[in-house]
Amino acid sequence: MFAIAKSKAERGVWSVDEPELQKPEPGMVMVDVIAAGICGTDYHIYRWDQWSSGRIRTPMVIGHEFVGRVVAIGDDVTGFEIGERVSAECHIACGTCALCRSGNAHICEKTEIIGVDRPGIFREKAIIPATNLWKVPDAIPDHHAAVFDPVGNAMHMVAAADVRAKDTLIVGGGPIGLFAAAIAKAHGARSVTVQEPNQARAAIAQSLDIDLVTNPRHENSRSDILDVCSGRGPDVVLEVSGNGAALNAALDLAAPGATVALLGIPGGPVELDLGGKVVMKGIRLLGITGRRMYETWFQVEAFMLKYPELIEKVITHRLPATDFAAGFQLMDDGACGKVVLDFDIFKQEAA
Ligand code: NAD
Ligand code: ZN
Repeated sequence: MFAIAKSKAERGVWSVDEPELQKPEPGMVMVDVIAAGICGTDYHIYRWDQWSSGRIRTPMVIGHEFVGRVVAIGDDVTGFEIGERVSAECHIACGTCALCRSGNAHICEKTEIIGVDRPGIFREKAIIPATNLWKVPDAIPDHHAAVFDPVGNAMHMVAAADVRAKDTLIVGGGPIGLFAAAIAKAHGARSVTVQEPNQARAAIAQSLDIDLVTNPRHENSRSDILDVCSGRGPDVVLEVSGNGAALNAALDLAAPGATVALLGIPGGPVELDLGGKVVMKGIRLLGITGRRMYETWFQVEAFMLKYPELIEKVITHRLPATDFAAGFQLMDDGACGKVVLDFDIFKQEAA
């Protein structure tokens, strides 16, 4: 069986031949993978940066954003049928700790992530805990259903910051920032600005018909943002670049009392003038990780059903899974929005 793995502790990912899977254990479901998104996390693992080299044990099949079809069901699993289309929450929380039991499973300290801590779904077939599966309505096409997870990151952040009637600045127009821009606009933000230095990504942001797309390296970027935000600065900042300097600049710009949600993961510690830029301005800082289980999934499903054209604009490339190297190259070049790999090529070959 074809799979894409971090086989060696160095830059790159490789195709591997995995043994066929056995019948799923109780509690588990086997799916035929139809399509899978390449996440920024997969790209971190590909680059073998400080975070991924400290966390991943090689060899590891990677990938965690997907849609698949149920092909086998573990003994005690109820509520699923062979042939159903599903996506899945990739954070496998313990289900029993105080956080899990109080509706905060997304920050469970015993979380294992598919494709990071346990084998991923960049493969022809995968076995997933039934608790984590999400049934996909027929009206959502495969390549959209493959990106439930990153749309969920964006949705979680936009919902937590509450953008309604707010001037909203999104720092970083990678796939998650672009999805966040689309969601913020649909959720009634007063204005939506995306700050993004990469031209290809800025062009995708433009296509979302938002209020302003600006390059942080241009000298008029700051005044253009203030113009859009009634001269006061944004009431909501969504930080999705992981760039510490960009966060500092956004805290300078933010209106007093603003909510600043942080989803981007910096490569290391970030220095902040907490007194001047946060405390004295009454800024509310929010750390955002994963997706709320499963409130965010209901919200993403509703968004995908209502605004398919916005999801479509952010997915810029669909490649056969065997062309994964080209997909990672696109990310290296920053020449893409979301890249989706098609795994149903193997079924077409078999038919
Ligand atoms: P990405 O790296 O593709 O996007 C980041 C974007 O920020 C890029 O397009 C880059 O050009 C842009 N950027 C760089 N410097 C900038 C600056 N000074 N100002 C504005 N933009 C700048 O990643 P993504 O897949 O969209 O993910 C965004 C971030 O979220 C990454 O840091 C990723 O690691 C992180 N992430 C967090 C979670 C979570 O649960 N918290 C989940 C997934 C990804
Ligand atoms: Zn837990």
